[in-house]
Amino acid sequence: MEIPYKIYLEESELPKQWYNVRADMPNKPAPLMNPGTHETATLDELSAVFCRELAEQELDDTNRFIDIPEEIQSFYRMYRPAPLVRAYCLEKALDTPAKIYYKFEGNNTSGSHKLNSAIAQAYYAKKQGLKGVTTETGAGQWGTALSMACAYFDLDCRVYMVKVSYEQKPFRREVMRTYGANVTPSPSDTTNVGRKILAEFPGTTGSLGCAISEAVEAAVSTEGYRYVLGSVLNQVLLHQSVIGLETMAACDKYDIKPDVIIGCAGGGSNLGGLIAPFMGRKLRGEADYQFIAVEPASCPTLTRGKFAYDFCDTGKVCPLAKMYTLGSGFIPSPNHAGGLRYHGMSSTVSQLYHDGLMEARSCEQTSVFQAAEQFARIEGILPAPESSHAIRVALDEAMRCKETGEEKTILFGLTGTGYFDMVAYQKYNDGEMSDYIPTDEDIAASLAKLPEV
Ligand SMILES: *Cc1c(COP(=O)(O)O)cnc(C)c1O
Repeated sequence: MEIPYKIYLEESELPKQWYNVRADMPNKPAPLMNPGTHETATLDELSAVFCRELAEQELDDTNRFIDIPEEIQSFYRMYRPAPLVRAYCLEKALDTPAKIYYKFEGNNTSGSHKLNSAIAQAYYAKKQGLKGVTTETGAGQWGTALSMACAYFDLDCRVYMVKVSYEQKPFRREVMRTYGANVTPSPSDTTNVGRKILAEFPGTTGSLGCAISEAVEAAVSTEGYRYVLGSVLNQVLLHQSVIGLETMAACDKYDIKPDVIIGCAGGGSNLGGLIAPFMGRKLRGEADYQFIAVEPASCPTLTRGKFAYDFCDTGKVCPLAKMYTLGSGFIPSPNHAGGLRYHGMSSTVSQLYHDGLMEARSCEQTSVFQAAEQFARIEGILPAPESSHAIRVALDEAMRCKETGEEKTILFGLTGTGYFDMVAYQKYNDGEMSDYIPTDEDIAASLAKLPEV
């Protein structure tokens, strides 16, 4: 069958349910734990921080499919389906026998896949009758997506933005404000934890873990507010399964059988969402695939971290999660893929990796930007630095096929555009990009501070 350059599903073919891969996992991800008592976090405890229905989704290891509410489906229809693109131009330029496909999630104003979960979380907050939500944002993609989602449902949105990004990415900030969000640089003097961190580290430019602590404190201390998170959590992977479901439907329609499925991994949500239904088939013994998570060498959570219970935030106010982690105090060296700088990893992805069901690789920043540049010049899309990690490994795999003559089908997730990352591209173009890799001592020192559980 002739495969078009771009495969778009019909509206009637779009997923009506999310897929919950935990239902098919023989070893379930370990439950979240109360940071004080070290007991399994209960629905009531989680509901004090998160919206009730989202807390239920967080704990649901049994329902394979969960209905996507009609309001969310109609929002999805504004920017979905995302195209599944056959990279004919790239295949030709590489002169590889491999077939290359990518699922492009950057075709919405927020510029990334994060909108898929933002709209779901805003919906449940509105349904619960809340006034608003709080969150953190690092590179700004999540904050932007949530601002759009909150504007749609007329919810108040308070974003704690890592100070260095707040200053370096003024345009991201202005997009959020245009959608009505209130953006505060973190650490700030508006929370106890922010004031404490400022006193301890005057002049700090902030971190994601610290912004999470501030957002959680703001949510639990403000009537009618809850905290929402853009990655890592089971509920977020559930919402992101829309990526994988659409991809699988498009593949099945055109009889495309991917051999290798690649995604970049920060907190694991796009990767977890893309691979979920394919992993389901693998777990049920219906098909086999090679899955590859790609992370920055500067923040090598899966490839060099430890599988253990750890804090999700610097302020240690969130529940503990069992995951691959570099330690909640790990501060990755400045890397331009802001969305991949988190110290931990989704507990679902962590469990799948731990059980040998997927692989992980780490890439150095300069080689990632080389891949981004090559991709932009051949396929036309300016990729986000995060997404370019997946491009790097897809190119490597395609070149390997050229050597061996294998006609593999390679599929990767292209999570977003790089329009707001031009400072990073400027550094690359000026030859000023560094490739710092943490030493074993750096990582050991950080892991030594894991909580005793
Ligand atoms: C946030 C982000 C990522 C990483 O987050 P995951 O939860 O690991 O998916 C990747 N790509 C883009 C464009 C992002 O904005």
